[in-house]
Amino acid sequence: MADYRPGLNELPTYSVEEREWEIKIDANESSFNLPPLVQERLMNRLAGLAFNRYPDIGMKGLKEQIAGNFQLRSDNVLIGNGSSEILEKLFHAYGGGGRSIVFPAPSFSMYDIYAKLSESRAIPVQLESDYSLRPDKVLAAARDSAAKLIVLCTPNNPTGNAMEEQDIEYIVQQAGCPVVVDEAYIEFHGRSAVDLLNRYANVMIARTFSKAYGFASARIGYLIAAADIVAMLGKICMPYHVNALSLAGAEIIYQMRNEFAPYIQQTIGERRQLAAALEELPGVTVYSSVTNFLLVKFTQAGRVAAVLAEHGIGVRDFSSVPGLIDCLRISIGTPAQNDRVLKIITGCRERG
Ligand code: PMP
Repeated sequence: MADYRPGLNELPTYSVEEREWEIKIDANESSFNLPPLVQERLMNRLAGLAFNRYPDIGMKGLKEQIAGNFQLRSDNVLIGNGSSEILEKLFHAYGGGGRSIVFPAPSFSMYDIYAKLSESRAIPVQLESDYSLRPDKVLAAARDSAAKLIVLCTPNNPTGNAMEEQDIEYIVQQAGCPVVVDEAYIEFHGRSAVDLLNRYANVMIARTFSKAYGFASARIGYLIAAADIVAMLGKICMPYHVNALSLAGAEIIYQMRNEFAPYIQQTIGERRQLAAALEELPGVTVYSSVTNFLLVKFTQAGRVAAVLAEHGIGVRDFSSVPGLIDCLRISIGTPAQNDRVLKIITGCRERG
């Protein structure tokens, strides 16, 4: 038997069902490829790339653009391979050696995995039955465990709801440790906690290009935080950890981010329509969402997922996950895809 480090064998694998779905609405990706004008500029930029050279180690181009948008400096920005890399680095930087990290549950499943991977003590704080997160519970959990980091996820995956701004501020203000706000879906909500950066040195904002900007293939995410935090995290990143192709693409996308506004609006409109239509069906509860996905509770959720799968439609099945029993997470697709999903679910309900 190979002698791996303790705990590795027991570590859960991040599992996704590898299938060629006809309609893939299981990972909260954008259902739209990049807008044609963005694709064209991106291809032109790639054509001029020095493929033989390492990327710019300072990632100045993208950092300056992001910093400029928030009236910050480029040393307030850390770029990563998706926000996944950023989050993983945070768990390693603040956790380890059994130190505690507080995060909501149910939420993004990787928080628990990063806690284990970094040999930190995971302190999940359960959401209420309406999936809200109580700030007093978060603060009590952090205090009792002498937490070194609090992770908030707003809007939350997979529940789709967002925290109140004053609740985020209260946690940041009262916490005796850093707080990272995972804003992976913020473009669909629009109410970011980013302004807190001007007032609190312990707040950090993590974002991604994988959702609203439809660039999941390239794995680009970023953190905005105080310069000393960014510098410390930089120490635990590999040299040249973000590749030049993804960086070049992200620069174009960020420059052209207004091009994405109509797609974001369309997704929001489609989400509202799909939610309203699903709510009409018997045995269905739709949780309110400010994201590009819906969490939906069904009587016989497993059967609904199976029928969708028979039709080549992949959704995320949480039906046997504690806290999410009988729930499926359905990402918003194109209008035609959403119509088809609705039709199949309706048929499935009518047959009982
Ligand atoms: N945070 C949340 C809440 C997510 O749902 C996801 C992706 N599912 C991520 C972070 C990671 O996204 P990425 O690594 O693609 O930036």
